[in-house]
Amino acid sequence: MRILIVGGGTAGTILANNLARRLAHELKEGKVHITLLSASDKHMYQPGLLYLAVGRMTPDELYRDQASLLEPGIHFHVDPVEHFKLDEKQVTTKSGRMVGYDILVIATGSRMYPEGIPGLAEHAETFYTEASALKMFKRLQSFEGGKVVIAVGVPHKCPMAPLEITFMLHDYFKDRGLLDKVSIHYTYPINRVHSLENVAKWAVPEMERLGITYETFFNMKEVDGDKKVVRSEEGSEVPYDLLITIPAHRGMEVLEKNGLGQNGWLPTHRTRLNLEGYDHVYVIGDTTNIPISKAGSTAHFEADTLGENIAAIVRMGAPVREYDGKVFCFIEAGKDRATYAMFNYQTPPDPKSPTRAVHWFKVAYNKLYWVSARGLL
Ligand SMILES: Cc1cc2nc3c(=O)[nH]c(=O)nc-3n(C[C@H](O)[C@H](O)[C@H](O)COP(=O)(O)OP(=O)(O)OC[C@H]3O[C@@H](n4cnc5c(N)ncnc54)[C@H](O)[C@@H]3O)c2cc1C
Repeated sequence: MRILIVGGGTAGTILANNLARRLAHELKEGKVHITLLSASDKHMYQPGLLYLAVGRMTPDELYRDQASLLEPGIHFHVDPVEHFKLDEKQVTTKSGRMVGYDILVIATGSRMYPEGIPGLAEHAETFYTEASALKMFKRLQSFEGGKVVIAVGVPHKCPMAPLEITFMLHDYFKDRGLLDKVSIHYTYPINRVHSLENVAKWAVPEMERLGITYETFFNMKEVDGDKKVVRSEEGSEVPYDLLITIPAHRGMEVLEKNGLGQNGWLPTHRTRLNLEGYDHVYVIGDTTNIPISKAGSTAHFEADTLGENIAAIVRMGAPVREYDGKVFCFIEAGKDRATYAMFNYQTPPDPKSPTRAVHWFKVAYNKLYWVSARGLL
């Protein structure tokens, strides 16, 4: 049985390791072959970018060699897929390699799409890549006061990042003694400050306590860099001195080019995780169109479910589990307090008051991620 995983991020790495351990016997006997194709020889811990942007992590802490994270027996190649020939059960790669499979898993992640809003890429800071997070940090260091506006597009990965960066900025300016010269204004596209109702209910008093103002129903339309204003589809115009954005995301362009899904989001069964119309093609991580949070934990729990199912298919010819929509997200509420949200398809999150203990748990997880990527946690 040939298992091909495309994408060596959180989802693809955890799944490959999970399968290599579950199917160690079959791998040794040559009955199973696991191939992982990715676009980079480095693996990035993306949540670290949040800390990089406010000077609390350094770039070297964010990376490991991808090969060093993988169990023996996994055939790993840095060779991005360019063509998915699903009906022929085959992909072709940038280098011209043709790889056939019996089971295909697509886990190519997502990307920011600031191009959808005129002026956004040119005039706003963001922190969703190493380069942009470093640029934002340098901009913050030279910022001496004024109106900071946070503008959010949906969908985007990491549901909590808009709130986290807002609270972390508050503490960053506090530490620099600038709070009396800085105002922070948070905007969000729907009729509350977060897509998850209970998270929104939790966040509003936190914002009010810290003097952070907010505006809902703010769907970015354009950024006018000369006048330093961001305008919304709803007709609002917000002036800024420093604009920070989390732009709307899309799936990877290669999927659009192959005619798969809309805007790169692949139509995925919410519990079985197969690509609609294909029994032997699965989708996990940010790339799915399942309306749940695009988060590393989602990728992790989906990979756990799929690992168990693929091993069962190899051994018994049928899957044994369904993905229940489980997500777990820490929420940093400043530089030294945090809470968390845990939820699934049936049960909404219920975040509690932030504590130092949860913050330190998150700080520890920032290191433990590498154990998690190996599928050991
Ligand atoms: C600032 C920030 C903070 C975050 N904080 C959190 C947090 O606190 N908690 C949380 O749970 N999540 C968080 N996330 C989200 C989390 O990082 C992502 O949801 C997670 O990485 C998704 O995993 P994935 O495997 O789907 O995609 P990724 O991890 O992005 O991996 C995609 C992989 O696909 C590869 N690839 C792309 N194109 C191809 C191709 N054509 N062929 C082969 N391979 C390809 C890439 O090289 C990459 O290895 C955060 C993200 C950011 C940016």
